[in-house]
Amino acid sequence: MGLRKGTKCRICKTKGKKTNAVVFLPQHRLALCKEHFIEWFEKRVEKTIKEFRMFHKNEKILVSVSGGKDSLALWNALIKLGYNADGFYIDLGIGDYSETSKELAKKFAERVNKTLHIVELKKEFYPIPTIDEKTNRPACSACGVIKRYYMNKYARELGYSVIATGHNLDDEVAVLFGNTLQWDLNYLSRQYPVLREENGFIRKVKPLCKITEKESALYSVFNNIEYIEYECPFSEGASSIEYKLLLNQLEEKHPGTKLKFYSEFLKKVYPIFKEFKAKQDKPLNKCKICGEPSYSEICGVCRLKREVENKLKIKREVSR
Ligand code: SF4
Ligand code: ZN
Repeated sequence: MGLRKGTKCRICKTKGKKTNAVVFLPQHRLALCKEHFIEWFEKRVEKTIKEFRMFHKNEKILVSVSGGKDSLALWNALIKLGYNADGFYIDLGIGDYSETSKELAKKFAERVNKTLHIVELKKEFYPIPTIDEKTNRPACSACGVIKRYYMNKYARELGYSVIATGHNLDDEVAVLFGNTLQWDLNYLSRQYPVLREENGFIRKVKPLCKITEKESALYSVFNNIEYIEYECPFSEGASSIEYKLLLNQLEEKHPGTKLKFYSEFLKKVYPIFKEFKAKQDKPLNKCKICGEPSYSEICGVCRLKREVENKLKIKREVSR
């Protein structure tokens, strides 16, 4: 992060100490020692929670844990800040990637002595590789629909009032950039760090939306959190990765670009899209098949299930 040798921690300096900084945050022009970086990170998460009125100390929070740095860093920070937060892990059935990430999530839950709810996709539905093989849907689009569905269903049934995900600033900016390139008004009108609860949908929040990927990796390393370091095999070729690379080049030249792009969108542009959304919103129904909340007659997961089962049926008939 461009730390010059011998730079001292700014917070230590105000206390009359001369500790060497180990981190430099260019967008905040801030050099910090390990202890004060951890403190800075947690304060920033707390500030974001308050700024967007995400939740209170007396609410039951379910953290969506993937075994990666962001979700584990988020879970750790929430616990340290005194929030009542448990974890939720979906085993997507993606070979070694799922096995390793599940073990790391379990290990972390044991370390912090918190409950980790685990849902096995192969028992509930079909594993992601089967869906990828049997449908025309890109794996990630199906995966997103499935994760949102089960997270919401279980959070509600288990009595949690809010779902927290580990989306960081880089994720949010990449999505915003992609949606802006397409002028996708529908997605742009939903890109806010809080999605309020409504008729069966649990509130969803992103407390790391102002924390960069590098910052959450550092926070995990400084807290000795073991996380999965490689990406899911299905992420290869995703356009969001290309956007992230482009945006990183911009950020390198002009520190603070990402934060400004995102924060100004939330402040100046989102309110306009929100109005557009309010006009466009269809009434929320219940899926005719499973009874879960849905904007169409049949929810995305039931439609996906139908698609996979049709393909499997055709295959069985052909092989008979
Ligand atoms: Fe799911 Fe795609 Fe993420 Fe893999 S990369 S976990 S398939 S959304
Ligand atoms: Zn359904």
